Amino acid sequence: MKTYSIATIPGDGIGKEVVPAGQQVLEALASTSSFRFEFENFGWGGDWFRAHGEMMPADGLQALKGKDAILFGSAGDPHIPDHITLWGLRLKICQGFDQYANVRPTRILPGIDAPLKRCRPEDLNWVIVRENSEGEYSGVGGRVHQGHPIEAATDVTMMTRAGVERILRYAFRLAQGRPRKQLTVVTKSNAQRHAMVMWDQIAGEVAREYPDVRWDKELVDAMTARMVNKPATLDTIVATNLHADILSDLAAALAGSLGLAPTGNIDPERRYPSMFEPIHGSAFDIMGQGLANPVGTFWSIVMLLEHLGEAEAAQRVMQAIEQVTANPALHTRDLGGTAKTADVTNAVCGLLKAQAQRKAA
Ligand code: ATP
Repeated sequence: MKTYSIATIPGDGIGKEVVPAGQQVLEALASTSSFRFEFENFGWGGDWFRAHGEMMPADGLQALKGKDAILFGSAGDPHIPDHITLWGLRLKICQGFDQYANVRPTRILPGIDAPLKRCRPEDLNWVIVRENSEGEYSGVGGRVHQGHPIEAATDVTMMTRAGVERILRYAFRLAQGRPRKQLTVVTKSNAQRHAMVMWDQIAGEVAREYPDVRWDKELVDAMTARMVNKPATLDTIVATNLHADILSDLAAALAGSLGLAPTGNIDPERRYPSMFEPIHGSAFDIMGQGLANPVGTFWSIVMLLEHLGEAEAAQRVMQAIEQVTANPALHTRDLGGTAKTADVTNAVCGLLKAQAQRKAA
C-alpha cells in the first residue's frame, strides 16, 4: 500500500491544537482510502527555544528533507520576539527548501456570513500567489550605531530576475488551469521605480508564453479597494512577499475568518518537501481552550493532498469541510458559534467515514 511520509510541526499557540486535529483528519481519510500516512512529529518552536536556545535544531532541515510533505501550525510565542520565532522556524524551512510559491486560495465557504454586504459567495473565488523566497523578506540589511542617536537600520528589498520570472510563470500557469484563465499582477511600480518596474516588465515578457491567460496590472493600494468593491473582477493574483502577505490577510477576512484560510509553501520543482499551514498565527488569546477553528488547517490538508497527486481524496476532504461550515451548530467562536475544535474535527472525520460507507454500499 502506498505510504506518504508526513512531518508534523505544531509549533506554538493554537498550532498545537490544529495540527493534531489535522493529523486526526488525515488518519480518518487514510482508514477509508487506498493509501496510508506515516507521521513524524517535531516539537520545534517556543518551548524548544527555551530548552535549546534555538527554534529548531541547526540540522533540522536534514530530518525533513526525505518527507513527502510538512503540515505546519504556527510560529510565535508571547515571550520571544516575533522576528526570532519567524526567522528561526517557518522562514528557515521556507527558504531552506526554496518553497518559493506561497499559494493562498480564498473563497466564501457555504454557511459563512462574510462581511461584505454586496458580495455574493460566487463573487469571491481567488487564489493569491505570494513570492516566498526574496523581496521585502530577503533578510538583507542591518543596524548600525545601536542605541545611539545616529542609529540607522536597513531592510533591503532584493528582487532577482530569476526569482520574479519563476513566480510569475507559476502564477500564469496556475491561472491557466482555472476556469477564468485570468491573472492580476500587483506591484507598486509608480513609487518604487526599480524593482517594481522590473516586475511589470517581466510580467509583460512572461505573459507572451501564456496567450490564453487574460491579465492586468494593479497597484497594491488600489488593489485593496478593488478587493472590497469589485471582488468578482479578480481570479488569480500574484504579488511580492510583503504585498501578498497583507492582501491575503484582507482576503481571509473578506471570506469570513482568518481561521478558515489555508496556505501551501510550494517548491514547484519538487526538489524538497512542500509545507502546508493555516494562514493564522499562534492566537495566544484563545490558545489551550479548544476554541481554535481547525478549518484553515483542514483546507491546507486539501492542498497537501492535491500536491501529493491525491485529487479525489482532496475533493473528499473539501466536501466534508463544506458540509461542516454549512452547519451553524459546527461554527467555532470566530464564526459566531459555540463549537469547539474537537466538535469540528470529529464532524469532519465522521463525514469522511460516512462518505466511504456510502461508496461501499
Ligand atoms: P501572526 O503575526 O503570527 O500572523 P497575529 O497575532 O497577527 O499572528 P493571529 O494569531 O492569527 O494573528 O490572531 C489574530 C486574531 O484572530 C486573534 O484574535 C485570534 O484569536 C483570531 N484567530 C486566529 N486564528 C484563529 C482560529 N484558527 N480560530 C479562531 N480564531 C482565530
